[in-house]
Amino acid sequence: MSCANLKRLSTQHVLVGWREIRAVIEAARNRDLSGNADIVGTYEQALARCFGSPHAVACSSGTAAIHLALLALDVATGDEVIVPATAPVMTALPVLAVGARPIFADVASPHTFALDLRDVGDKITRKTCAVISVPMWGYPSDGPELVAACRRWEVPLIEDAAQAHGTTLEGRRLGTQGLIGTFSTHARKLICTGEGGFCLTDDLNLAARLSQLRSLGRAAEARGFGGAFGLNYKLPALSAALGLTQLTRLDQRLATRRRIAGRLTGALGDIPGIDLFPVHPYGSANFYAMLITAAPDRASQLGQALLAEGVESDTLRYDYRPLYEAPIFRNGTSATLCPNAERLCSTLLTLPCHEGVITADIDRIVGICRKVMGS
Ligand SMILES: *Cc1c(COP(=O)(O)O)cnc(C)c1O
Repeated sequence: MSCANLKRLSTQHVLVGWREIRAVIEAARNRDLSGNADIVGTYEQALARCFGSPHAVACSSGTAAIHLALLALDVATGDEVIVPATAPVMTALPVLAVGARPIFADVASPHTFALDLRDVGDKITRKTCAVISVPMWGYPSDGPELVAACRRWEVPLIEDAAQAHGTTLEGRRLGTQGLIGTFSTHARKLICTGEGGFCLTDDLNLAARLSQLRSLGRAAEARGFGGAFGLNYKLPALSAALGLTQLTRLDQRLATRRRIAGRLTGALGDIPGIDLFPVHPYGSANFYAMLITAAPDRASQLGQALLAEGVESDTLRYDYRPLYEAPIFRNGTSATLCPNAERLCSTLLTLPCHEGVITADIDRIVGICRKVMGS
């Protein structure tokens, strides 16, 4: 094994340069550091423009964004929220925070993160107050079909697009299809403010409500506190300065990741036993990660072999499995089997596809894959 083989290839790539450093220093000079600073409003306007949404509300994390969305929709104790079984724990924790029950629904096949509309339909009850869709690893999944179904069921749709900055479906950026779109800007995500998040919505009243809930219940024009419920989920000014700069990099990042994904696709496509996870025919992924599948025993063998040579996979890192298997959700929730989610989780593997992946890394990944698959 040569030295080059030992380079650790993380699933995360933080892209922070002089532009970010300058922007943060400038914001610090302003001495206006709280989440009420003007720069936070500027960042929100830039977010709205970038995603093609009328309103954006910045907040302190992606988890906070989902919590705010549920609060704004009055989801409360005893209510039920439909969550895909393939979602991460962060999607469903806010459901517990408002006292509601996550009801895990299956995905439409082992080759998509789109919800199975029949399974969701079966699980909708009078208590259902929201459906959350989660395009994992930035792969476009739920689209107009789910939007139309939610309208029929008269249940609001929240898009947890925390991993899907810049992902498109039928020409729209994700996060703008449902009543509220939620995002994270955690260090791992494609727009990074360290910790942070935001909500998108078309609805002016909802935007005002989200903003009020984020700011201790204080409405934008009101004086003082105590008029309405709220929490402090504001995004600090320095993080907004970072986010504003990060936004200007998004298109370039998407282009770079799509190019690397194209090269990985070309190199992995002809290895027997490895399949590329399909991208929705009317969509484009942001390649937060590149997804491949293999038979369950081979997938875990491949994941271990990659890790042994320094290549991380999210599916291994998080021990990816249907969310109803997590101890915190096992009790008191409907732990019914979701066969497609089971299959998807056991066959899926993520590969790094970020700006730090160079030709030698691609060769290394492909070499390991060939070796494990015996081709
Ligand atoms: C990262 C993430 C979250 C949570 O975001 P934080 O900013 O870490 O709180 C929620 N949902 C999904 C799908 C995520 O990837």
